[in-house]
Amino acid sequence: MMYKRSSELFIAAEKVIPGGVNSPVRAFKGVGGTPIFVKEAKGAYLYDEDGNKLIDYINSWGPMILGHAFTPVVNAVIDKVKKGTSFGMPTQIETEIAALAVSMVPNIDKIRFVNSGTEACMSAVRLARGFTKKDKIIKFAGCYHGHSDSFLIQAGSGAMTFGSPNSPGVTSGTAKDTLLARYNDLENVSEIIKANAKEIACIIIEPVAGNMGCIPPKKGFLEGLRLLCDAHNILLVFDEVMTGFRLAKGGAQELLGIKADIVCFGKVIGGGLPVGAFAAREEIMNYLAPNGPVYQAGTLSGNPLAMAAGLAMLKALNEDKDVFQRLADKTEYLHKGISKVLENKKVVYTINRLGSMISVHFAKEEVVDLDSSAKGNNETFKAFFHSMLKSGIYIAPSAFETWFITDALTYEDLDKTIAACDNAFA
Ligand SMILES: *Cc1c(COP(=O)(O)O)cnc(C)c1O
Repeated sequence: MMYKRSSELFIAAEKVIPGGVNSPVRAFKGVGGTPIFVKEAKGAYLYDEDGNKLIDYINSWGPMILGHAFTPVVNAVIDKVKKGTSFGMPTQIETEIAALAVSMVPNIDKIRFVNSGTEACMSAVRLARGFTKKDKIIKFAGCYHGHSDSFLIQAGSGAMTFGSPNSPGVTSGTAKDTLLARYNDLENVSEIIKANAKEIACIIIEPVAGNMGCIPPKKGFLEGLRLLCDAHNILLVFDEVMTGFRLAKGGAQELLGIKADIVCFGKVIGGGLPVGAFAAREEIMNYLAPNGPVYQAGTLSGNPLAMAAGLAMLKALNEDKDVFQRLADKTEYLHKGISKVLENKKVVYTINRLGSMISVHFAKEEVVDLDSSAKGNNETFKAFFHSMLKSGIYIAPSAFETWFITDALTYEDLDKTIAACDNAFA
């Protein structure tokens, strides 16, 4: 495959955009080379500016769970765009999508829409602090909750690939209110709570971690967090920006049977347009302005185009009884195929998978937290990435990312992907 046009476009972009990209994970810093410029996409495939066709495993980092340019979403947006694109006044479609989301997700009565996952998590934590009247939060090393200041403390994939886990510009005053715990280590969380008695507003967690590769929670871990939260008047915040409307209709809460107090959404909920949301039971949500004292706002929040795209996406997921099982089946098929190849080639690897989230770690030991994820062999990953790309398979350009499976993938695509793995270790 040739990337002449992409290289030229990247050089032009670098002159006027820092690093040539509008989000660092798009750069190829972790794997070397220059990013690929997309011209268009349909279903499971990307078509780049050089005329290459790629099977896509990032799917805009999650949103395109039913494939690119999904017809109901495209039609809903086209219909809306002709009627005005933003009013700064309420519209009926906001209630429609809110009612549908509330009906699909357990334990939530009300939902507020924002423009990104970052905003959702940032607002959820402000709400938790306002509601509990406490300042500190616990987050887990390797979990990503967007790029707002409180969260840029060992924040997973993007921050890790670039070797700057704690960003300059985050004040020490802010950082001191974020307490860092080890994922899958209940004992560690318990100690932190003990040392900060009565000061912790919330524990925020990716219920299935997806930003240090895919790391499912160990049996009993989330249950244990729920008990600790109940015992210490701490709110449990599930960041379901990645897992929401992906692992099940009701996300990780439904799949794993754990109740969160506040839930954050993004990615799938916007159908590929910029949308985030956070939700909780009525008592908590009523703390938000204009009903309550916690301020949160947005000029473009609940934007009609974004709501139309999100509504079409949620409707499609809600009406298709088998979609989440189909996604899980495809992911399992891929897991088995890749495992077989890597066994045959005697490659050191660990594959983690839950539902339609999967990641290949070139590490020997079980990957259960940030430290074990970081032990993967990055040189092997780099070579693997570029070889897959040569075979027309686009996986995320970082060893710390989950692969996002879309329902648009056919078993033929999966077989091609497995064959490309075989080729990578020829
Ligand atoms: C992507 C992601 C975010 C941030 O969402 P943005 O829309 O990029 O701001 C937050 N939390 C998790 C778990 C994510 O995967």
